[in-house]
Amino acid sequence: MTTKIDITLSETKKEKPESGQLEFGRVFTDHMFVMDYSPTKGWHDARITPYEPISLNPSSMVFHYGQTVFEGLKAYRTEDDKVLLFRPEKNMQRLNLSNERLCIPQIDGDFVIEALKQLVAIDKDWIPTAEGTSLYIRPFIIPTEYYLGVAPSKFYRFMIILSPVGSYYKEGIHPVKIFVENQYVRAVAGGTGKAKTGGNYASSLKAQEEASKKGYSQVLWLDGVEKKYIEEVGSMNIFFKINGEVVTPELNGSILEGVTRNSILKMLSHWGMVVSERKLSMEEVYQAYKQGLLEEAFGTGTAAVISPIGEFYYNDEKITINDGETGEISKKLYDTLTGIQKGTHEDIFNW
Ligand code: PMP
Repeated sequence: MTTKIDITLSETKKEKPESGQLEFGRVFTDHMFVMDYSPTKGWHDARITPYEPISLNPSSMVFHYGQTVFEGLKAYRTEDDKVLLFRPEKNMQRLNLSNERLCIPQIDGDFVIEALKQLVAIDKDWIPTAEGTSLYIRPFIIPTEYYLGVAPSKFYRFMIILSPVGSYYKEGIHPVKIFVENQYVRAVAGGTGKAKTGGNYASSLKAQEEASKKGYSQVLWLDGVEKKYIEEVGSMNIFFKINGEVVTPELNGSILEGVTRNSILKMLSHWGMVVSERKLSMEEVYQAYKQGLLEEAFGTGTAAVISPIGEFYYNDEKITINDGETGEISKKLYDTLTGIQKGTHEDIFNW
């Protein structure tokens, strides 16, 4: 296991984008972190280098069978110029869980967090400070063996790249419209839904594209067997407030366990709210709506933090929530969580 990180600084610095113009994941900083894996050396040659293209043989396994994993987390710059990371150890645990599912060797989470801190410190000037902006951190692992057999690769490359980002949705924290997907599914029991692996996202594109054409910003994913139980929304976890109870679907192997989801469950319990992780069918949500008991719905994830839902399109019917406005809990969660992330709100959880 490698412990030393070689650093080669870039001789030229790229121009940084204006804060107001930042999109999600379009612009990258001056440096990246890289390390390699081989069966004899384990993870080795840890290095921070200028951000640059990489060269791979076309037979490299990454181009063929999708044995990839990735993570997503953010760094924030505080008013007194400190850099804050939000629960990076949770992302490392999830990365190793994804590794386990995809037959990729485990990484040393503490070492990677150390590498990540060094990388972010080097590119600190890239962390934007305007409201809603942050530095998105993308660790990922690709298989690099030159081989076309369908088998786990013997060699891997781990990389971390950084991207200054603005708000994930054009709408900001305003409610989005969601299409309840009744044809395609994202994941099935026994599949790879609980791992953060490229294939899950590739298979979600078609439904997303069709929903966009109909004017919806994301799809609501139902379970892969009966298409009855709610799983996730786009690439976020989902919460509902029904008659005073805050409900999120229980982890069942096909749902990705979000770091934001976990944080929100802890915050809601701390506030003394009634919270449950349980099976939740779309029909139950529909009936609650009919009875006037559907109070709020929102998606949660690193990119958008909280994304309130103003409308669902379900079985040829529009379900409007909270008159299409941001609900009280969504707003309070957004303010508190982004406050903790940026260091402007007391962090009683030590995140
Ligand atoms: N579900 C999926 C499918 C995702 O890609 C993400 C984003 N990582 C989430 C949920 C939310 O996870 P997190 O809160 O850790 O960003």
